[in-house]
Amino acid sequence: MRILLVDPSRTALKIVSRLLEADGHGVHAFTDEIQALTYLAEDTRIEALLTSVELGDTMSGLELCWQARIVAGDRRPLYIIVMSSNYERGHLIEALDSGADDFIGKPPAADELYARLRAAARLTTMQRDLINMAQTDPLTGAFNRRAFFQAAGEACARAAAGVPLSAIMMDIDHFKKINDGYGHDVGDNVLRGVSTAANRIDGAVFGRLGGEEFAIVLEGKNAHEAQVVAEGLRALIMALSFPSAKGEVKLTCSFGVSAFQPGDAVDAMLKRADVALYEAKAAGRNRVVVCADADAHRTYPGGIIRAERRAPALPNAAE
Ligand code: GH3
Ligand code: MG
Ligand code: MG
Repeated sequence: MRILLVDPSRTALKIVSRLLEADGHGVHAFTDEIQALTYLAEDTRIEALLTSVELGDTMSGLELCWQARIVAGDRRPLYIIVMSSNYERGHLIEALDSGADDFIGKPPAADELYARLRAAARLTTMQRDLINMAQTDPLTGAFNRRAFFQAAGEACARAAAGVPLSAIMMDIDHFKKINDGYGHDVGDNVLRGVSTAANRIDGAVFGRLGGEEFAIVLEGKNAHEAQVVAEGLRALIMALSFPSAKGEVKLTCSFGVSAFQPGDAVDAMLKRADVALYEAKAAGRNRVVVCADADAHRTYPGGIIRAERRAPALPNAAE
């Protein structure tokens, strides 16, 4: 496991580090609890915290447990073991109530520490698998709707502090015809292929919102830059082909782009991208439309169009 070890004594750190390393664990040792918390926030691969109850002046080991729980949040597993030379029942209860999962005497006995860490590894592996399952669309491996909205909402909070942010909504064109013409299994392969292509976009949060509809948020990119990304993805998807019993299957996608605006919640930004997507569909599909009030040139194959705030009715919605 990757373990964060915190103890005010350098000697104690050295002894426990050696014990842990001898059992094959990766150790990141700190005498300072603030530095330890900062490291925990940055290195999301840390799976366990082993801390002494007795720490320096800034906070106690029990406060560190609370803070570490807050830093780890609910989307990464963190197993917390508290060490104390005073193995008292009162201490044990206080540690568990402070967010610790386990309690061990200090200095820990090697075999007991290893056994407790084996239990920790079983639990964190299971938690990681469950978190993955709860966040992932099983067919495509993309974020599911819930996980996408959570990640996009966090990106919106950062955008409110000044980081540029944009959104792309995309929808496969005439996907029903692919299912009807080539079979559902070919349709499933198309969904996987489109997801693989979109997953290659650097630094993007990518999710399957449902059926053959996907969304992307791009941190650090304005609407014009997002338009370039969407154009690239459109070309990449056009170049894909999928085998079927009736020959190669080709497809296209339509895209709507919007940018974060002050006061936006994620729903509002995506709604504008969705309006632009409807417009791309109505204008003939296989194109990128940028929302009218985004800060970009609005070009698409065939010329400039006016984006309306409300979605126009699709002329071929009955197809
Ligand atoms: P448009 O260009 O207007 O978007 O037309 P469309 O045919 O893509 O859209 P429509 O909403 O009429 O059809 C979407 C189809 O997607 C219908 C549904 O059966 C299919 N679909 C939804 N989820 C899945 C899935 O997981 N696998 C497969 N193979 N098909 C799916
Ligand atoms: Mg579609
Ligand atoms: Mg659709």
